[in-house]
Amino acid sequence: MFPLGRRQYAEDAEDKIHAGKFGSLEFVLKNDLCTGCGTCVGVCPNNAMGMRKDEKRGIYHPELDYLKCTGCGLCSKSCPGYKVDFKELFLEIFGETPPLNTNGFLLGNYIKCYSGYSTDPDIRYNSASGGLVTQLLLFMLNEEIIDGALVTGMKGSSPLESNPSIAKSREEIIGASRSKYCPVPANIMLKEILHSEGKYAVVGLPCHIHGVRKAEQSIKKLREKIVLHMGLFCSHTDTFLETEYLLHRLKVKSDNVSEIAYRGKGWPGMLTVKLKTGDEINVPFHKWIRTHAYCMFIPRRCLLCCDHSAELADISFADAWLPEFENDSVGRSLAVTRTKCGEEILQKAAASKEIEVMEIDSVRVAESQKMMRFKKNSLSCRLLLFRSLGRKIPAYNRDLPKPSLADFPRSGIIFINRYIASKRSLWNLLEMFINLQSPLERIYAKAVKNAPRGSK
Ligand SMILES: Cc1cc2nc3c(=O)[nH]c(=O)nc-3n(C[C@H](O)[C@H](O)[C@H](O)COP(=O)(O)OP(=O)(O)OC[C@H]3O[C@@H](n4cnc5c(N)ncnc54)[C@H](O)[C@@H]3O)c2cc1C
Ligand code: SF4
Ligand code: SF4
Repeated sequence: MFPLGRRQYAEDAEDKIHAGKFGSLEFVLKNDLCTGCGTCVGVCPNNAMGMRKDEKRGIYHPELDYLKCTGCGLCSKSCPGYKVDFKELFLEIFGETPPLNTNGFLLGNYIKCYSGYSTDPDIRYNSASGGLVTQLLLFMLNEEIIDGALVTGMKGSSPLESNPSIAKSREEIIGASRSKYCPVPANIMLKEILHSEGKYAVVGLPCHIHGVRKAEQSIKKLREKIVLHMGLFCSHTDTFLETEYLLHRLKVKSDNVSEIAYRGKGWPGMLTVKLKTGDEINVPFHKWIRTHAYCMFIPRRCLLCCDHSAELADISFADAWLPEFENDSVGRSLAVTRTKCGEEILQKAAASKEIEVMEIDSVRVAESQKMMRFKKNSLSCRLLLFRSLGRKIPAYNRDLPKPSLADFPRSGIIFINRYIASKRSLWNLLEMFINLQSPLERIYAKAVKNAPRGSK
């Protein structure tokens, strides 16, 4: 295996690159545009690619065995790292581009929005929010709409690493519930979908869904096998350093951890760390999520991401961060249906009483997501900053609002936070940095709330 971008190729590798077969992937790795989604590995018909953990930066990136590569170019064509043609994909999937108003800009195309939960109290209590994703997968499996689902649990052998898999039983689907705030190369599992009989649902972050949709453009078989794309809202994910930092604060050595869960145990949930000694540590969500909320351990590529609500999914799911659900101690999710098929499956599951859903206004969904406005409104600012530093940026083929002055200091603070958090020697000061920033954060949130953009 040869890490891409480091120019340690087999003899004929340079020729293949110049022939343009995997030039885009080389471009992605060299310019740090990889989301770590795993699509390139999942679609490679020659098993020429694998994901490798970069211990220092706490992310995954692909590597290529040039001796196995035939230069088919499928990896490059499917990679969402350097380009996602939103206009083309919107038209292909929904037959139209999103409405030209603030909600269309924030949420993309949608049919209806719901709040809801699984009617199974255990599933609801042990999921990320209301357990809608897990319960819908179980419903589809029972009804034989799917034979399995691409989900992500944690590795038994290496408990701090995510474990994408194809779940084919009730136990496997439930075992993979809850959100994983660490790198997840979910789309490596497209390989198994391609090589198995049957129909599948895929669950993923927006960048996973981008990779799946791009791969489906080139691989008809994949398009036929995946019957439902279930997207999770995503402000950003975290590098492995976030988990390392949390363990550092808890004074736990990573070798002593037998299991970790970032959510679950009601709403908004707990970080649960199980130790090999049999002890268990629980930290309430609001206490540990601060470093995530302040983007301390945000992967570089997430700074350039334009999708918060998984705009290319059939249904997208979110936490119900709304004041009316604040005192709900068990949990509630939000769902945004975007395609006829997504809407039908949600309605069928509701009719079977496996889930309880209530229609809500799309404005309420947008209001529930504080980070979404910042992420979408200020993306142009970050793209501009990267470009002015001579860095390459991804192409999206979609309209973005012009940057406002307020976006620059806020984006600048994120760059500083990332820098500080990348230095382990400064970890004891991170909480202090966050406390210093809280008042500024409130002023910015107010300014952004009063100035919705993206509408025409
Ligand atoms: C990194 C990250 C950032 C998020 N950011 C936001 C946000 O800003 N706003 C918001 O409202 N919601 C966000 N979510 C989504 C939210 O946490 C819940 O996933 C969503 O509300 C669905 O809840 P549920 O109870 O229905 O899910 P569950 O029933 O618990 O099912 C969750 C499903 O997602 C899969 N999964 C978990 N983590 C990952 C991952 N990292 N990559 C791929 N698949 C995964 C699991 O395998 C499972 O199938 C984020 C999730 C993640 C993982
Ligand atoms: S397909 Fe995904 S993992 Fe592969 S290079 Fe592109 S962004 Fe990275
Ligand atoms: S912010 Fe974008 S690139 Fe980062 S994990 Fe979320 S969907 Fe993927």
